Amino acid sequence: MIRLEVTWAAANLILSVNGKRFRWACFSGSITEAFIVSTEETFDVIVVGAGCLGVSTAYYLQKNSPDKKILLIDRTLAAGQSNTAMSAAAVRNMFASSTNQLLTDTSIKYFEYVQNELGHNLFFEKTGYLWLLSEEQFNHESVKLWMERMKKSGINFKIYTKDELKKMLPGLNANFAGDEEAELMHLQEVSYGLFGSDCGVLDPTRLVEHYFEEFKKISHIKPRFGLEVKKLLLEADPKLDLPGEPFVWQNKKVNGIITDKGTLRADVVVLAIGAWTNQLLDPIGIDGMTKMKKRQLFVIHAEDKKELHDLLDVKGFNELGCVPFTILPSAGVYFRPQLQERGFWIGCGDTIGRAYKYIQTDEDMVPESAYYENSMYPVLSKYFPAFQGARPVNSWAGGYCYSPDRIPFVYLEYGVLVVNGASGSGIMKADALGRIADALYRGEAEAELYGGKKIPAKTLSIKDRNVEIESVII
Ligand SMILES: Cc1cc2nc3c(=O)[nH]c(=O)nc-3n(C[C@H](O)[C@H](O)[C@H](O)COP(=O)(O)OP(=O)(O)OC[C@H]3O[C@@H](n4cnc5c(N)ncnc54)[C@H](O)[C@@H]3O)c2cc1C
Repeated sequence: MIRLEVTWAAANLILSVNGKRFRWACFSGSITEAFIVSTEETFDVIVVGAGCLGVSTAYYLQKNSPDKKILLIDRTLAAGQSNTAMSAAAVRNMFASSTNQLLTDTSIKYFEYVQNELGHNLFFEKTGYLWLLSEEQFNHESVKLWMERMKKSGINFKIYTKDELKKMLPGLNANFAGDEEAELMHLQEVSYGLFGSDCGVLDPTRLVEHYFEEFKKISHIKPRFGLEVKKLLLEADPKLDLPGEPFVWQNKKVNGIITDKGTLRADVVVLAIGAWTNQLLDPIGIDGMTKMKKRQLFVIHAEDKKELHDLLDVKGFNELGCVPFTILPSAGVYFRPQLQERGFWIGCGDTIGRAYKYIQTDEDMVPESAYYENSMYPVLSKYFPAFQGARPVNSWAGGYCYSPDRIPFVYLEYGVLVVNGASGSGIMKADALGRIADALYRGEAEAELYGGKKIPAKTLSIKDRNVEIESVII
């Protein structure tokens, strides 16, 4: 049986068929269009993106607003499947800007709390971070400023001399005298090491799991996966229900999302979609100010190579008795130990020559074996000859979401709360960024970070931004 109801509201004819409402919008006396209204579900907040930043944000939002209906969604089939899973999963508080120092130092302390006090193993291992620096780099004013700011913030670090490094890292080639290849490649000889003992590596899947599980315990709404947002629902505020609105003279606000499976409404939409943010902000005219760059990792196993086992097992840097996350002086090449696999993950923070992209594409997820062979391997094996002949057993690629000053963005504009721009270090900032996003949502002037330190909630916004430029990006 069909139940039909007809009502007029403003300039609209509302037709209701079995409870489903259709609207004929009439302007200047003529019927112009028909579309479905008000069948959409409504939430207080929808968090789009279940990477490390989305799950952390969803958790703090729900924790501090227990009565709010908060929906977490992602287009993939589980949490933490995109760039979070592609990362080198290393965490450091050794940044040059005091903002990044604060974001990472408090997040890392929270990760330790989760692992040691809550008993949720994040496989956080304090391997330390070791920057190998040339004389020239060590004496550069940017490195002096970096060390000065770390001292001021109470970040632990230590300087090793070349002689100390040669003893501790017997596999290090610290002498390029007469080496024509090294000269051709512009490789700078190692003179110093800058070491941070509070840094390390963890398992990003376990980190995402922590926030996701804690969120699910307190949330009223089951997270939804396999749901892709196609558009943000920008509407006039208040709505006058005129065809063609919002007009320029109206205030506007995002009131929800249009997905591949229908429209969902919310007071606030959180965008934690990293390297894809521009895809949703551009069409509504918000300049997200981020760019993407492809980054790749290659896995080398020590296998039966004694020199690689020896390098993995160097003593003196940490309690684990392993080589730290190590950054070479030249070409942006770095490696981290992977103790469970008895191997290394090799990466490179290349600069000029690697294109910035506006949005991450599928092609950016494909690692380039020639990149390892021709670009990374010659540098790596020159500084650490133990890698000579070693070939990757695995590799993957993803994208960094860069902000112009390499400091993350957290801002709330027109009903959209954006959390992105982590510039290659989102995992190590995930806790602080989730707390800041929550403080902004609740209209707090300050966000309290783990351990009680405070930061103005709008510091990372676009309009009221108050940050130093970050120079230590890997
Ligand atoms: C090779 C590499 C190495 C890295 N190393 C480190 C490191 O050592 N330490 C560190 O801290 N960071 C590192 N990073 C950076 C780190 O991975 C990111 O900063 C972090 O993962 C960002 O988290 P996110 O939640 O913003 O993004 P993501 O994990 O990418 O999550 C975004 C989510 O949004 C979803 N999404 C996108 N568009 C839509 C849509 N339209 N509808 C619905 N869902 C959508 C995606 O499916 C995805 O799940 C590395 C990154 C790479 C690529």
